[in-house]
Amino acid sequence: MNHTEKLDLLCKSIKDKVAKKAAVTFEKSSVSHFVPNPDDPRFKREKINIRDFNEILSIDTENNTCTAESGVTFEKLVAATLEHGLIPKCVPELRTITIGGAVSGCSVESMSYKFGGFHDSCTEYETVTSDGNIVICSENENSDIFHLLHNSFGTLGVITSLKFKLIKAKPYVKMNYVVKNTIEEYRDFLAESMSSNEIDFIDGIVFGPDHFTACLGIMTDEVPYLSSYQGTEIYHRSVQTKNQDYMKIQDYFFRYDHDCHWLTETIPPLTLKPVRKLFGRWFLGSTNLIKWSKRLRYIMKMKRRPEVVVDVFIPGKNFVPFLEWYKSDFSFYPLWVVPYRYPEVYPWINPQFAEGMGDDNLIIDFAVYGKKNNNPNLDYSKLLEDKVYELNGVKTLISRNHYTEKRFWEIYNEPAYSDVKKRMDPAGLFLDIYSKFNNQK
Ligand SMILES: Cc1cc2nc3c(=O)[nH]c(=O)nc-3n(C[C@H](O)[C@H](O)[C@H](O)COP(=O)(O)OP(=O)(O)OC[C@H]3O[C@@H](n4cnc5c(N)ncnc54)[C@H](O)[C@@H]3O)c2cc1C
Repeated sequence: MNHTEKLDLLCKSIKDKVAKKAAVTFEKSSVSHFVPNPDDPRFKREKINIRDFNEILSIDTENNTCTAESGVTFEKLVAATLEHGLIPKCVPELRTITIGGAVSGCSVESMSYKFGGFHDSCTEYETVTSDGNIVICSENENSDIFHLLHNSFGTLGVITSLKFKLIKAKPYVKMNYVVKNTIEEYRDFLAESMSSNEIDFIDGIVFGPDHFTACLGIMTDEVPYLSSYQGTEIYHRSVQTKNQDYMKIQDYFFRYDHDCHWLTETIPPLTLKPVRKLFGRWFLGSTNLIKWSKRLRYIMKMKRRPEVVVDVFIPGKNFVPFLEWYKSDFSFYPLWVVPYRYPEVYPWINPQFAEGMGDDNLIIDFAVYGKKNNNPNLDYSKLLEDKVYELNGVKTLISRNHYTEKRFWEIYNEPAYSDVKKRMDPAGLFLDIYSKFNNQK
């Protein structure tokens, strides 16, 4: 089926759902990178099938751009662009995150300190509204829709294809791991690294209250040896024991995938070499791990609450206060750290709220993967959400959310969202962003 035929089918199926007056979510061919929650109402909703939107439509090696359907995974994309010596400007670390999902959610990775999120490298989206119209949007055409689709989580229509920029790549990455012992030293070292022209990738891992590691990557053509973290070796553990490393660039991009960052630490047998060797192909890798956690969601229901798995964006100016609070009140390690410079305040953020974010356009993505949350008197997910709000940060919506409607719209730009929502979803098919994510236990 070609792209036009897929679009025709999609428009038809949207009309059917509108006739049924169903509220919908999307059925993709790859797993959803949403933290499985047994009470998630999305499991029960009608689905619109976008499984076939999986093709790379063109790679323009003169202008370094790519046009691809929204369900293309970053694993497939990187393999195709590398054939031309090119890579996307943002490659989220899990193999099967899709380009449509990366725009609709919020994607970050170790080039974000230079290039922002994946949306910031996109130049055009093709979308379908709930009345079955195709709308093209870009910086120059329907630019409000273009920018509001970012972080709209599928509530403003279906993105069917995307055009985005690519950059030149080298085949390998050399890693340097630098350890700092205080929050201030760490902040200063990351700032210094961000202003260096010699570094291509920056992220970090906090292993404990006085163990802060910066992971600095440089693309290179030659290597003395190669490491791989797609088998028995565990990437985040290697960072604790090495001060240098070398990987193929595609292995670098997906270095956290095999252990889904460090979620396997919550299932200790999966960190043992013999188990990894014998059973790894069924259990390891983000896709397997997410599938298993969905299958086991009824068992998860026996827990008081699911583990805390979430990314939060903290304004750069609050780096130290956040980490000091984290050390005293949250204290769960490792903690992932990704500096992220955005080109301008995203229009989906309430402009008043954005005023408190500082004027250096820098946020730090801190990601928590697997803190136990069984204390009867304290919900750590809510505690974190409240602290992030207090520090003028934004919590991503990928797991449990606790906002009141009032607080939610203090953070998100309601007038801009409602205006685009009316045009993109006149039939009310795609749910409203507050109610889609804020009615879970
Ligand atoms: C455990 C875990 C680890 C993560 N690690 C990283 C990471 O390392 N780096 C990073 O950048 N991000 C990470 N994320 C976040 C991830 O990038 C976002 O959750 C992203 O939105 C997932 O995209 P997906 O392709 O899996 O889409 P889904 O999870 O299926 O969908 C995400 C949202 O986008 C909507 N959507 C999907 N496709 C479309 C479309 N074609 N049109 C319109 N709406 C659509 C869906 O309705 C949904 O609301 C992680 C998330 C989890 C749960």
